[in-house]
Amino acid sequence: MTSCVLAATGFESWPLLLTLGLLAIGGGTAAWLLLGRRAGRGKTAAFAAIPLLVLALVASGGFAPAPASAAAPCPPGSTPSPMPSTPAPIITPTATPSPVDYQPGAAGIGDAYFPLDGNGGYDVQHYDLDLAYAPDTDVLSGTATVTALATQNLSAFNLDFDTRAVDGTDSITISAVTVNGQAADWSLTSTQISDVTGQPQAAGSTDGDATPPRTELTVIPLAGIDTGASITTTVAYSGVPIEVSDAFGPAGVFATPTGAVVVGQPRVAATWFPSNDHPADKATFSTRMTVPAGLEVIGNGRLAGQSTANGLTTFDWEMEQPMATYLATATLGDYTVTSETGADGITYYDAIDPTLFDRDVDGTPGVKVGDVAKTIFESEPQVISFLSQYFGDYPFSEAGGLAIGYIGEHVDPDTGETVPDDLPYALENQTRPIYPAWAFPADADPSVVVHELAHQWYGDSLSMQRWSDIWLNEGFATYAEWLWAAEHGGPSTQEAFQDAYDSIPETSSFWQTVVADPGAPGIFDGAVYTRGGMTLQALRTEVGDADFFAILKGWATEHAGTAVSTEQFVAYAEQVSGDDLTAFFDTWIYSAGKPALD
Ligand SMILES: [Zn+2]
Repeated sequence: MTSCVLAATGFESWPLLLTLGLLAIGGGTAAWLLLGRRAGRGKTAAFAAIPLLVLALVASGGFAPAPASAAAPCPPGSTPSPMPSTPAPIITPTATPSPVDYQPGAAGIGDAYFPLDGNGGYDVQHYDLDLAYAPDTDVLSGTATVTALATQNLSAFNLDFDTRAVDGTDSITISAVTVNGQAADWSLTSTQISDVTGQPQAAGSTDGDATPPRTELTVIPLAGIDTGASITTTVAYSGVPIEVSDAFGPAGVFATPTGAVVVGQPRVAATWFPSNDHPADKATFSTRMTVPAGLEVIGNGRLAGQSTANGLTTFDWEMEQPMATYLATATLGDYTVTSETGADGITYYDAIDPTLFDRDVDGTPGVKVGDVAKTIFESEPQVISFLSQYFGDYPFSEAGGLAIGYIGEHVDPDTGETVPDDLPYALENQTRPIYPAWAFPADADPSVVVHELAHQWYGDSLSMQRWSDIWLNEGFATYAEWLWAAEHGGPSTQEAFQDAYDSIPETSSFWQTVVADPGAPGIFDGAVYTRGGMTLQALRTEVGDADFFAILKGWATEHAGTAVSTEQFVAYAEQVSGDDLTAFFDTWIYSAGKPALD
């Protein structure tokens, strides 16, 4: 992410699972039946049985399995079906295999900054989004299919799906949920989120009531899911997605005059599809979006298909390498699109909001934003070639950019006039970063594009294991800007380092941010960017150019496609350099305070 206002750069408690073990029916044949019961919101649970046992029980008149309709989806708040009231008699087993202990997956993936982000118990492999958007009503509808592997024995699992507005009303309505082809039970639980910290609001806290709650979709399959099993979950839904407004900036699906812009960080994915919404769980994506004919849909990766029927056009975007959820987009509307495969073999797909060709660059009448965007986008192959020297091969087969117009408007309290709003940040959406008008200055300096393209290596191909690792994204993208400037008429990277060091006084709060642990509210602090970039320049000084550039390139290539941590980076830098860098990293990223220079 690049912010336009950057300073220096700018459980619910899970109820008890009652397990009734059983049995041995006939001549030493052991079987078991697992009954799960869930209290809380009173949802019924699934029950699982070994088919042999069911057959035996049915044959003996014990009881019949509940019909499938008994487990049909329940809308929130509905009364659950009761458990079978007369279970089979419990027979003391003579020889029993251990019953499988199915437990619900956790409501969060384990990130202290955003404890409800992501979920436990499974690993998503692929998202298949089959959606439609109606610009006249802003309604998004369709089906998300999430394919995952269970990492524990699951009785239930969560998806993040922010279907509720600030006031708790449903913005999106779920109509059906299935697991592995069978209707599943489900429920929604919403938690108020602080708009200051992004964390669940503490009891009695007065902040945080101006941002939509985090909503967990709990999916309860008919039967327990074994560790390692494939889980294919479908969720059918429809509604007008909520917009998130918090200290991290606006995010979500922004209705525009001709369509919608889909962008945000850290919270965005769950506003438009159910997901394991954390960058540690990357997955491939197929995104089909249907819109009125004449509009464009710009997604991630490769445009695999585009077809029109009955006045509607469906775009099929395929992101064939793993992607963090927040990097997904399906921005749509009226766009001027160009697509071309470069000499480097990369397909460049660029889109510019046509209103930008009529809009002056701020402060420079006569220079149009759209023209500057076009010029800068034409330099993408040059930027990627430049960055590849240092970072290794560009990690994807596609690249490009998306220049967007206004995302909304507000009334100026002083003048009473309606003022249009630009997105206050640019974002490194995988293969297709999103840029607001201010990213395209009159002198066509591409530094914002350099920043977001650098993220394709650091942030996208390598994503964060935890949000506290975000300097691995922003410090590296900042350093990429310095590398670019150094060879394009700007200061050397050492001069950029020294300028920052000298210009920020020791008393500045800038030096109080711990780069590798900036705190949830601090993930976009200027220090994450600038001190992060300074750390890399200081590392270059510490280990020398040869080792430094080997670290930079090797880090990106050896960890391509994975989620990485600061600890891994430190270990890698030590491995490549052969140096003990404990004191160095303690000073630069694990401590507050202005480092002393030798
Ligand atoms: Zn960034």
